[in-house]
Amino acid sequence: MSGIVVKFGGSSLADSERLQQAMQVGRIRLAAGGVMVCSAMGGTTDVLIAAAREAATGSDVRERVEGIRARHVAVVRDLCPPRGQAAILTELQLLLAELDEVLHGVSLLRECSPRTLDLVMSFGERLSTAVASRLLGNLGVETRLLDAREMILTDAEHGNATVQFEATYRRVREALQPLAGIACIVPGFIGATADGVTTTLGRDGSDYTASLIAAALHADELQIWTDVDGVLSADPRHVPEAFVIGQLSYQEAMEMSYFGARVIHPYTMVPVVEQAIPILIKNTLRPEQPGSRISEQPSAGGAITGIASVDSIALINVEGGGMIGARGMAARVLGALAGASVNVMMISQASSEHSICLVLGAAEAEGALSALHAELALELETKRIDTFDLRRDLAIVAIIGENMRGTPGIAGKLFAALGGAGINVLAIAQGSSERNISLVVTAADERRALQVIHRAFLSP
Ligand code: ADP
Ligand code: ASP
Ligand code: MG
Repeated sequence: MSGIVVKFGGSSLADSERLQQAMQVGRIRLAAGGVMVCSAMGGTTDVLIAAAREAATGSDVRERVEGIRARHVAVVRDLCPPRGQAAILTELQLLLAELDEVLHGVSLLRECSPRTLDLVMSFGERLSTAVASRLLGNLGVETRLLDAREMILTDAEHGNATVQFEATYRRVREALQPLAGIACIVPGFIGATADGVTTTLGRDGSDYTASLIAAALHADELQIWTDVDGVLSADPRHVPEAFVIGQLSYQEAMEMSYFGARVIHPYTMVPVVEQAIPILIKNTLRPEQPGSRISEQPSAGGAITGIASVDSIALINVEGGGMIGARGMAARVLGALAGASVNVMMISQASSEHSICLVLGAAEAEGALSALHAELALELETKRIDTFDLRRDLAIVAIIGENMRGTPGIAGKLFAALGGAGINVLAIAQGSSERNISLVVTAADERRALQVIHRAFLSP
């Protein structure tokens, strides 16, 4: 087995032109074997989710499935020699007939459970890998298509399943090690429970699949091929002058992705960090560009490596004089939220202990409020807590960098820049690792905050 795992994201497989480029990259990189992990063709997962939701209301979703079919067939027609088309078209037809049946079941039952939604979503990666495997084979590479569900073992937390590492690593090795010299094609994003029920690893989870396989095989390198030149110093859609970060540490990459840089999924670093397997982020459309390298070595730049942001954020302020000195209040608040499966992204508590400020995804705000009302009913009634103040339409902006540690004056410069631009900061948190400072601004200020900070810290 050659020591390389190559992952193509949906953006690299979105149409015939991109797929052709991706397969050229695959042909060169996987000529001596290795693993190619593919996402669904860009946008397919969203269409599958919409189809499942609509089918559950009893709507006719044939047009949705037809759209998916047409995209895959178009690619086969464009890129396969005529003689090779029949076999792959039959394969696609079989998968699409199965998808039709599942969706028909959903519409009859008028119900789409998370378990069923996972099965529906799995067709995106199953279809794309069927095509990619053929296309790479047509380029003279010996390929083998494998089913990730026989390798990636997870719990039954549908939509965001937790991977069981040891068993997964064992299965990956058993399946792939005998195939030395062959390019093994594996669908990303999907796994299965011990009973063989299909699960998914969370949106954008194909990066994670690739990283699990790289770790299992002790690969020399994990390559993530996408539609930008690497990890950029900020989201290029917000900050046009963002530049490629040539080198960054696993921790920096994890923080960037956790705070919204979706170019790499935050879990991706977890399996490979232990073995120090480097990750290379490359642009499928510009393979000659050097890309970004993620390894143990931090960025060589200044104090700040990059900036990231997450939108659709809400903030809950739990406030009241009765909280001062009340033991265990933070534990109760966080316990109640954990019990309601709310993911708290940032917490800050002033040393006066008068309030606790919780920052979370806006979609979770209602659930969080009900959990807090239930847990703190007595405190509300006795006025030890005045109110839960909820604010929506916010964003988290985070500045990230290993070299921030021990560099004085970063926070001062940050707030001076934001203040100078008239941007109001609603909450602040700094991890004791000093690897990031995260702050909350209104959604209306998000873009400008990114630009102002980029100019202050990262412009030449
Ligand atoms: P793929 O389909 O390859 O998985 P994604 O759309 O998931 O690609 O991720 C790539 C996108 O991430 C880029 O097109 C870019 O718009 C966005 N992005 C956000 N922040 C960053 C960043 N800091 N660096 C690079 N890309 C970023
Ligand atoms: N196809 C999945 C998604 O769109 C997984 C991935 O692309 O990584 O979320
Ligand atoms: Mg992605």
